[in-house]
Parts: sequence; C-alpha cells; structure tokens
Amino acid sequence: MKQGDFKGSAHLCRVYGQAKDCNLLQGSPIPTFVIDETHTVILWNRACEHITGLSAAEIVGTNKLWKPFYSHERPIMADLIMSGATDEEINRHYGDIWQRSSTIDGAYESEDFFPNMGHCGTWLFFTASPLFDENGRMIGAIETLQDITARKRAEADLKTYRENLEELVRQRTAELAQAHDELLDKAAVLEQANEELSQYAFVASHDLRAPLRAVRNYADFLREELEQILSDEQLSYFAGLGSALRHGDELVTDLLEFSRIGNAVITTGPIALKPFLAEVSGRLEKLPEDELIVADSLPVVLADCTLLTQIFSNLIVNGFKFNHSPVKRVEIGIAEERNGVRELFVRDNGIGIDSRYHDRIFKMFKRLHTHKEFEGTGIGLAIVKKAVAKMHGAVRVESEIDKGSTFFVTLPTVENGEK
Ligand code: ADP
Repeated sequence: MKQGDFKGSAHLCRVYGQAKDCNLLQGSPIPTFVIDETHTVILWNRACEHITGLSAAEIVGTNKLWKPFYSHERPIMADLIMSGATDEEINRHYGDIWQRSSTIDGAYESEDFFPNMGHCGTWLFFTASPLFDENGRMIGAIETLQDITARKRAEADLKTYRENLEELVRQRTAELAQAHDELLDKAAVLEQANEELSQYAFVASHDLRAPLRAVRNYADFLREELEQILSDEQLSYFAGLGSALRHGDELVTDLLEFSRIGNAVITTGPIALKPFLAEVSGRLEKLPEDELIVADSLPVVLADCTLLTQIFSNLIVNGFKFNHSPVKRVEIGIAEERNGVRELFVRDNGIGIDSRYHDRIFKMFKRLHTHKEFEGTGIGLAIVKKAVAKMHGAVRVESEIDKGSTFFVTLPTVENGEK
C-alpha cells in the first residue's frame, strides 16, 4: 500500500481540507508520522524515513509503529493518545519522562534515548497530538520527532567536564590546604630556628666578651711589665694584638646589637625627626670640619626610639667614614614622592658604591674594603636593614663610585606630622 492510497488518509486529509498539507508534511524537514483511529500508519514522511532508517513502504499501512523505536512490541506516544490512555498508563510506558505540552492542547511530549536507532543510538524529543474531525471526534494522532543527540551528548560532555573540573578544584584545594599547612609548619620551624640563632648569637657574643676582656687585660699587663726590655718590633706586636682585640670587641658588640634587634620587643610611637636627629648628631663623634646638614622640614615617624637611633647613627657614621672629601658632608632630608611614598634620605659626598654591590652591602659581614682601608665589622647596614624591617619600613641605596651615596629609608609616618 502506498501512502495516501487508503481510506483513512484520504479521510483525514479531507476532514482537515488538508490534501495539500499531506503533501506538505511529506516534504517537511521535521520527521513526522500520522496514525488513524485503527493505529495504522497513514503517513511516514521522508524526514522520518531518514531519521529512523525505515522506509514509508515498510511501515505505512501497518500498525507496527514500535518497530523503528523499540526491540519489542509496545505502544508509542501516538498510540497512547489515540487510545485515550490515562496518566497511569502513560507512566507505565514512559515513567516520569513525559509531560503535557504547554503549547498544544491534548498533546504530550517527551525525550528519550533509542539505542536501536542510528549508529550509536539516538536521542529524540517527540511530541504527539490528537487529530479531530469537524465534530470534535478523535480520528488520528500525529507525532513529530526531533533528533537531540548532539545536544544531549554536549550536555553529557559538559556534565563530565564539570564533574572533572569540580574534582580538579577539590584536589587542588586539598593540595593548597596541605601546602598552606606545610608552609605554616615550615614558617614555625624557621621562626624557631631564627629565634634559636638569635639566642645563640646573643649568648655567643655576650659570653665572648669576658674572655676577650681578660686577654686584653693580660696583654696590657705583659706590655707594661716588659715595655722596658722589648725591642720596638716586639712592642709593635703588642700594638697589633691590641688592635685585633679592639676589632674583636667591636665585632662582639655589633653582633650583640644585631641579635638584640631580633629578640627585642619594640615600642613604636610618634617621633619628630628634627629634634631626634639633633640629639643623635650631638652624641656622634665627628671632626669639627665634618658637616651634618639636617633639613628643616621633616616628618613625625612612627618608630621605636632605640631602633631609629641605630638606623640613623649607622648611616651617618658610614657617610663620614667612607669619605675622602676635604669637607665631609652628610645631608638628611625628605625625598621627592616616589610610587606614592616620600622617603627619608641620608646623602654623603663620599667614595660611593659600585651598583653591583647595592644589595650585598646590607648582608652580614659583607664589606667592600679591608679593615686596613676602613675600620668596621660589616654589621652596620645589616642592623639598619633589620631595624627598618622590624618597623615595617624599607631601605635602599642609590650610589656610584666617586659620586657619593644616598640611602633612602621608608618608615610609617604620622599624617600631617611635619615638624
Ligand atoms: P662597616 O661600616 O662596618 O664596614 P656596614 O654594614 O655599615 O659595615 O657597611 C658595609 C659596607 O658597605 C662597608 O664596608 C662599605 O664598603 C659599604 N658602605 C656602607 N656605607 C657606605 C657609604 N656611605 N659609602 C660608601 N660605602 C659604604
């Protein structure tokens, strides 16, 4: 039987005055089929043939609608509509994956996977609705199919991707938490090691003082006793011993000072720099011709008085020490704004520092000169750096050989506190 050849089809088309609509349905790109009241397939369009792989010749005129969709005989949605099935009956066949159409009265829609359709199965969205004659009598049902496989696969891929992503995030969060804990542990170990080191440096330098003093005393006694009988060369050994002992003493003193900063509980408060520097300068040993110029306008900083004294004493002393100018000059002032911060500066007209060593000089015992050239322990700038850091500040240097040096210090300041 050819489609359209039988009475039901003609009747349906006639009832709707849709003879040409039947032809239209044939050519429609939407897979569509129609059954009559005896559940016989009367229309199976070309799109339907294409999607199901079943030709109209094979199905039209039969009531084996289940064939392209299922492996066993059962009613499909159009059949259920045609037989006026109750919700329970529809549930029996479609579970909870169907619903009433929100746009077409009396129509049902659903989506399901059909493993026997296509190469790897096909996902279909299908809508079945009843067809009525002019007296409102149901005379058939029409069903349209939509291949939603690509969308479903994309959704499944997205779901897998999302689950993988969530798993990945879970894993990374756990790793991050673990790394964070490990870091905290390491920081605690480091802090303890640091504290022990500070304690050790403190004890070592403190305890070294007594034997050093004893050696110096015995050396003095010996020199006094033997002064008359020793040759000039032998006496010069004593001079060397004295200078080595002085150096040892300086080292111990500086080390002690350095370790004290680590252990110190600091008390910060507002300090007006102008009067503070006048006092520091008064306590420093300078030659009368040395010039210390302090700017008139300086801020009030939030600092610990002992640490601030160490910072400026060390910088000022260095400015005069590493200096061969006939008139040695150290200037203290406030620099132009840089990255939104106004730094304090300590500038000298001394020997300058090669830019290769600008970081190195802040490290313990790093000196660019021999003790003979310039006396010192190599701890002064390490003290400056540690003291500044302890007060949440920073220090840096700008300098060139033979062009003097400028040390820049940033410290928390009191707003509008310029004095
Ligand atoms: P010390 O003064 O005991 O040598 P510091 O830690 O204060 O130790 O300084 C480290 C080194 O940095 C010095 O030995 C010197 O080479 C260099 N330095 C520090 N301040 C200046 C300066 N104002 N001008 C030139 N060189 C300096």
